[in-house]
Amino acid sequence: MSDNQSSPPRTWAEIDLSALRHNLAVARDISGQSVMAVLKAAAYGHDIKKIALALDKENIAFFGVASVIEARRIHSTGSKTRIYLLGPTLADERAEIVAQRWTPSISSIEEAQHFDELNSNTTQPPLPPLPVHITVDTGMGRGGFLPDMLDSALDKISTLKNITIEGIGSHLPSADEDREFTLSQFETFKYFIENCEHHFQYTHLANSAGLLDYTSSVTNLCRPGLMLYGISPIEKYQHLLKPVMTLKSKITLIRELPAGHGVSYGRSVVLEKPTRVATVGAGYGDGYPRSVSPEKAAVIIRGVRCPIIGRVTMDQIMIDVTALPEAEIGDEAELFGQQISVTEVAKNANTISWEILTRITPRVTRVYLNE
Ligand SMILES: *Cc1c(COP(=O)(O)O)cnc(C)c1O
Repeated sequence: MSDNQSSPPRTWAEIDLSALRHNLAVARDISGQSVMAVLKAAAYGHDIKKIALALDKENIAFFGVASVIEARRIHSTGSKTRIYLLGPTLADERAEIVAQRWTPSISSIEEAQHFDELNSNTTQPPLPPLPVHITVDTGMGRGGFLPDMLDSALDKISTLKNITIEGIGSHLPSADEDREFTLSQFETFKYFIENCEHHFQYTHLANSAGLLDYTSSVTNLCRPGLMLYGISPIEKYQHLLKPVMTLKSKITLIRELPAGHGVSYGRSVVLEKPTRVATVGAGYGDGYPRSVSPEKAAVIIRGVRCPIIGRVTMDQIMIDVTALPEAEIGDEAELFGQQISVTEVAKNANTISWEILTRITPRVTRVYLNE
């Protein structure tokens, strides 16, 4: 029996695919460019297969993934959208990449030569050259050719007959933090594209923050991740987006606890007055961060913000519902999504929205709306 047949889930993530489509339309509108939808890390916790299927009909240039295993998961859905590997690949992963015609990003001459060799025309009929993209490191420091090595790298790679340079990309480390530096990256990229003899079919630089807050006359492809899932890395654009995931659980118990009673591990909270305490059936075992500070964290029950009391435990969280006498066992509690933003939870937990979404564990049933 599958997880969700016998009884309704206790903790679940509602994933609204119409919100996903809305956010994609926003990315297209704002950038005016083709889209590489970034689906790495289980599509930021939303399930890579489901999201690939939902976006496959949307005329997307590429699905961006981190690894071959993610590419395989997308492939297994029958999706026809091209798959792009965002980072370097290991030697023993490359035969599969070539066989599947996935698109690698190239950071070294060795990678290029190996792809060329693997795609060499020993088959009958011969395989066409494998399209690859060149990565240039304009400041991320994670991969790619340094700008002053790029011309000579392109010269060498262009001589390889079994691969073809289809695109060039770079990445922004601080588009939501450092405007001046990010602008200098756009300039470096532009200068290079304008002065390079090679013609690139695809030129790409912007992640979500890059496409929301900057424009470029030389790029024609953007690589949004976070914003597709409805979270803006830059607060002032949040109103344009619709959060895709809402994490919900239920009240499993309600009790009146007397003043002086401790709540949760470490007894970091000892009640100062009699308190109506609800137990909600989710915890860090579901991916809700244990590191939220209970003084600031809350959940939404019946539309009301109710504070968390004491530490988050693996499977349960205690909530102060003294101000909500109508609360009952079985009531839904929103942990984040529509009324409490992922960004707020991330701040409370001293982390970033990307991590909050990707850490939601497999125990949480994903429920898809508006497919
Ligand atoms: C993850 C990633 C993205 C997407 O970034 P967001 O901030 O989630 O939009 C884009 N490009 C590359 C190379 C990445 O690794």
